[in-house]
Amino acid sequence: MSAINRLCIIGVGLIGGSLALALKQAGAVGSVIGVGRGLANLQAAVRLGVIDEFSHEPAIGVRGADMVVLAVPVGTTAQVCEQIRDHLSPSAVLTDVGSVKGEVVAQVKSAFGEIPANFVPGHPIAGTEKSGAAAAFAELYRDRKVLLTPLTETSEAALKQVEQMWQAAGAVVETMEVEHHDAVLAVTSHLPHMLAFGLVDSLARMEASDEIFRYAAGGFRDFTRIASSDPVMWRDICIHNKRALLAAMERFESELAELREAIAGGDADRLTTIFSRAKAARDRFSG
Ligand code: NAP
Repeated sequence: MSAINRLCIIGVGLIGGSLALALKQAGAVGSVIGVGRGLANLQAAVRLGVIDEFSHEPAIGVRGADMVVLAVPVGTTAQVCEQIRDHLSPSAVLTDVGSVKGEVVAQVKSAFGEIPANFVPGHPIAGTEKSGAAAAFAELYRDRKVLLTPLTETSEAALKQVEQMWQAAGAVVETMEVEHHDAVLAVTSHLPHMLAFGLVDSLARMEASDEIFRYAAGGFRDFTRIASSDPVMWRDICIHNKRALLAAMERFESELAELREAIAGGDADRLTTIFSRAKAARDRFSG
């Protein structure tokens, strides 16, 4: 018997679609219904075998589902939860994949009036700069971490089911506190995205931008790949992880100021020290 009989994915994009594909490939799900607004994306999802059927109505999508995954931009969480609140099966487990956890938890609470015991906040630490169902692939979560941030209200049974779902998709599950999650992700993911978006935008607005991009080499491509990520998704992440992200940006601004000062003063030793420290840290982390 499948671990999940009927899975409802709300937001059939890279993250939700890849989860559906991985569970199908593992034989860990019976049927999958996808919910979204755009018809073309949902039709493509059926054609590609990501989902079996779809609805534009979240209320219809969750009917009879024993697992419901919210995979929409974090800013739409409350709106979607209000639409499904009265239609979820009492035993259905609700989880999400949002890149920010504090705000998702707050939105779920405001929509339901309390934190449902069957709600398990989650965040897969995996992704690409692509979006939509066509970007989904079954291997996305293989050996990648998924952080679950259970709350005091979260039932043990629901947590176990979500843990097993991600393990079936090939992921390694860890748990973390909500606030800690948001602080860690602000520096490891959200800040790097701000740097990439900011750098590419500043170059794009320079007069000779065509020429600049024509001569961009591998390093530039590596560093700026994530600036191709979905603007709406990143808008929501910034707004909803504002406090932690601003703290991370402030720390980085002082690092940049130190670099500027060393360059202006021709301080070769200081530059070598900073670069050597960064190289050692990067080598250790990638090794
Ligand atoms: P995506 O590929 O753009 O998919 C999001 C999907 O949600 C789209 O197909 C969109 O389709 C649908 N959607 C948007 N608003 C909706 C609404 N109100 N109701 C129903 N469906 C809606 O984005 P993604 O990369 O999968 O990201 C989804 C979530 O995963 C985000 O919360 C993000 O923070 C999180 N996440 C992303 C990554 C990453 O690297 N991409 C990694 C970890 C976590 P329609 O516009 O047609 O409705």
